[in-house]
Amino acid sequence: MDKLDAVLAAPDRTILALDFDGTLAPIVPDPDRAFADPVAIAALRRLSPLLLRVAVVTGRPALKAVELGSLAGGAGLEHLIVMGQYGIERWEASSGEVVAPALPEEIIAVKEALPALLAAAGHPDAWIEDKGRAVAVHTRRLADPAVAQADLSEPVQRLAEEHGLRVEPGKNVLEIRAGGFDKGDAIRDLVQRFDPATVVYAGDDLGDLAAYDAVAALAEEGRTPVLVFPRMPGEDSPLADRADIILEGTDGMAEWLTVLADRLETRRETSPDPLES
Ligand SMILES: [Mg+2]
Repeated sequence: MDKLDAVLAAPDRTILALDFDGTLAPIVPDPDRAFADPVAIAALRRLSPLLLRVAVVTGRPALKAVELGSLAGGAGLEHLIVMGQYGIERWEASSGEVVAPALPEEIIAVKEALPALLAAAGHPDAWIEDKGRAVAVHTRRLADPAVAQADLSEPVQRLAEEHGLRVEPGKNVLEIRAGGFDKGDAIRDLVQRFDPATVVYAGDDLGDLAAYDAVAALAEEGRTPVLVFPRMPGEDSPLADRADIILEGTDGMAEWLTVLADRLETRRETSPDPLES
């Protein structure tokens, strides 16, 4: 808990950034129904007014995370930012609007080519999720998700390369997106805009490693990095070796956020009033 003292000492100079799927929302078969844990969101409503910023950093379109997290128009979430598409899109609760550039033609071409490619590879029922500036091929609904992902990996890779795009593999998912943007870019953008003393980042998947790297590098600038990993029971992941705090899945994440909110609120109530000292 040593590193958390940095948060408790200066909450108004702390950014709390969190991945969405597998961190705030349990992984479910239908990604369109991956709703955030209401306990976690209730905690974020308490934390957001006390912290410099709370940011959701996700590969999803920003508005999709807003919808699945019930993040719009809620009391307490005025300081919330959703960095969608790995930070390309930015939705701020204060304005309720998404700022994003136009869709690249390469992504449009890949989306058009994918159905035929999946059919040719023997997996026409793989689920294609349109993520705006990215497109994901999910195999988790198929009979053998791991085998299907292995079958599709090479043709999807080839299609992406033909269009100058890259593939980001995850758990039962292959995601194609434009190069040069990852969750590390989203973190650097937040740091540049808000100049935090401490950045807490929570994420559960390989796509979060770029954010882990960006947050860890902040130590060189004299900022305090805190890395949190909500791990599925028994899961082996490179994030485990890097994390300062390992939690038990999304339930553990929601509980940890609640405890953090409790501690910050208690601290505020018991700290001496500067006007009376
Ligand atoms: Mg995740």
